[in-house]
This record gives sequence, structure tokens and C-alpha cells, in this order.
Amino acid sequence: MTENTARKAPRPPLIAKKPERKKEPRLLAVIDQHGCTGCEACIVFCPVDCIEIVPGADFAQFQQVVEVDIERCIGCALCAKHCPWDTIPMFNYQEGIQKSPALTLKSVCSQKTKDDAVTQTS
Ligand code: SF4
Ligand code: SF4
Repeated sequence: MTENTARKAPRPPLIAKKPERKKEPRLLAVIDQHGCTGCEACIVFCPVDCIEIVPGADFAQFQQVVEVDIERCIGCALCAKHCPWDTIPMFNYQEGIQKSPALTLKSVCSQKTKDDAVTQTS
């Protein structure tokens, strides 16, 4: 299985308790948190419960966004189909791993974020 280089630390205990994915998916969903309103519509449709709520990037107490745990996503695209704000692009697996840090503003899954992506390129 391809290494997930978008994770920078072990998963937090509550997220780690969820079942493992059996094989690497062809596609990967990545939330573009710049456009996410935190409406939670995608969470309802995810069959493997791999979309996590994240505190808002600017006002953590008043906003929320979501994040896909990319080690558990099976690439079914149901979240992307049902997002009312069209802010869940589907990528080929490798491309998703690479682009995830640029689209992620905040992470509760210990995945790399936009700040990490900026640090790497500067
Ligand atoms: S593509 Fe499917 S498995 Fe992945 S986050 Fe979206 S609904 Fe969940
Ligand atoms: S459905 Fe779209 S806007 Fe709503 S929480 Fe999910 S990604 Fe964000």
C-alpha cells in the first residue's frame, strides 16, 4: 500500500478506534476547507464514517469545517455528490495525498495543513 505522506503524526485515539480500510482506493475525497460551511451534509452520506468535524480556521468557537481522514476514505464520491457547496474535489489517490495539505486549513486527524504545505515550498 502507498505510504500516506499527508499524515504528520499518529491518529488521535478516538479516530484511531474506527475500523481500518481494507485496500487503497482508486479515488480520494479531499475537503477544500476554503469553501466548506460546516453544514455536515457530507457526513450523513459517508458509508465508512471518515469525515471529521474540525474547529473553524479563523473563529474556532463559532465556526466549523470538516476533514476527510484520508487513510479511511474508500473513494465512493457520495460526499462530493451531496455537498451543497461543491467543495469536495475527488482526486486520484496519489494526487489526493499530494493536494490534501494545500486544501486543508485545520486538521483533527493529524494530517498536514496549508501551513505545512507553505513551509515545505518556502
Ligand atoms: S468519498 Fe466516500 S468514503 Fe470518502 S469521504 Fe466521501 S463519502 Fe466518505
Ligand atoms: S457538505 Fe460540503 S459544505 Fe457541508 S460540511 Fe461537507 S464539505 Fe462542508
